[in-house]
Amino acid sequence: MARIFCVANQKGGVGKTTTCINLAAALSLKGQRVLMIDLDPQGNGTMGSGIDKRTLKNSVYQLLIGSSRFDDVVVRALPEYAKGSYDLLPSNRDLAGAEVELVDIAHRDFRLRDELAEKLSDYDFILIDCSPSISLLTLNALCCAQGVIIPMQCEYFALEGLTDLVETVKFVHLQKNRYLDTIGLLRVMFDSRITLQEQVSDQLKSHFGDRVFDTVIPRNVRLAEAPSYGVPGVLYDPSCKGAKAYKAFASEILAKTKSQSTPS
Ligand code: ATP
Ligand code: MG
Repeated sequence: MARIFCVANQKGGVGKTTTCINLAAALSLKGQRVLMIDLDPQGNGTMGSGIDKRTLKNSVYQLLIGSSRFDDVVVRALPEYAKGSYDLLPSNRDLAGAEVELVDIAHRDFRLRDELAEKLSDYDFILIDCSPSISLLTLNALCCAQGVIIPMQCEYFALEGLTDLVETVKFVHLQKNRYLDTIGLLRVMFDSRITLQEQVSDQLKSHFGDRVFDTVIPRNVRLAEAPSYGVPGVLYDPSCKGAKAYKAFASEILAKTKSQSTPS
């Protein structure tokens, strides 16, 4: 059965998409069957996975409004890589219309969950890249996930807005999806030379304890370059610092999910 994580933070540009595509490729490198879902009309996760969002026949939009089936939407990202490729439900700006159209659809918070129901045994991990907002799309992601990965930069305003997201996760857990129970903060774009970042990182640890992942993703120019080649950093330059960090993060996620599914 697939473990479903969404990567969310309503702040823009904090590293959600970079985390999602690199974790997808890194888990695939470790032999996991991965589906990534681009649930952001910006389509950055689609482009960063080597799929041109402008030429899509079907996207996750058609899936959500019920006009296409999963098998007609899913594409194989990065098939040229023997290891590191993954399945993708791609997106483009059409998805922005889903917000409006879903309003009249019954069970609208659960559209994604319903469409994935028959596919859960085909994957080990499903990763959902959310847009920088708490929208109906993000709600759809939360309603089918077991965990939320929140990438954060260790800056002064990092915690700003986090409360809203944590409250939304609590609400979804209580009212809509009791399987949603894990929140993990991932420190990204980290630069240990900046004293303030060390301080904020320490504050995060003391405040959130083991909800902060051990892995820290450094600021690394190779990770930022990779999307312009339509490839996640872990495949673009496997030995760069950023790639190594995302591979370590994949190992941490694997270890955590293994220990959770083993009865104690
Ligand atoms: P949005 O909210 O718009 O969806 P996002 O949270 O998905 O943004 P990304 O697109 O992943 O954020 O990252 C924002 C920018 O920062 C991108 O240009 C990306 O290449 C760069 N970036 C992300 N992580 C790193 C890193 N570890 N080191 C250097 N650059 C990074
Ligand atoms: Mg993004």
